[in-house]
Amino acid sequence: MKDNQEDCLTLLEQIRWGGIPQCPYCQSTNSTAITKERRYRCNTCFTSYSVTVGTLFHRTYVDLQKWFLAIHLVLNSQRGISVRQLAQEIKVNRNTAAYMIIRIRKAKVEDQKLLQRLIDMCKP
Ligand SMILES: [Zn+2]
Repeated sequence: MKDNQEDCLTLLEQIRWGGIPQCPYCQSTNSTAITKERRYRCNTCFTSYSVTVGTLFHRTYVDLQKWFLAIHLVLNSQRGISVRQLAQEIKVNRNTAAYMIIRIRKAKVEDQKLLQRLIDMCKP
């Protein structure tokens, strides 16, 4: 499992962008890095963004490494993992675990390629 948020972001950027940041709002690749925050400013539409915009990770305060582990647990458990089990495994409260399971199942339908590549590249 990737041990910090920085590694996880790098991995996600690699998967989604192949190393070249792309604006999720206007698709421009003309951007300036705001390195301290790990965000980018689009030089075409002047919005700032990070790699999580438009993914299941957008606007969550849960660490990405917990998300990656949760994805493994949700997608690889034979009989489906319960909210209580997930909460225990990744040490979040049950509300958060329930919310993560919903997002992961939704992403499995809508963004399957991303989840598959995360699983292939980021073994816990
Ligand atoms: Zn833009």
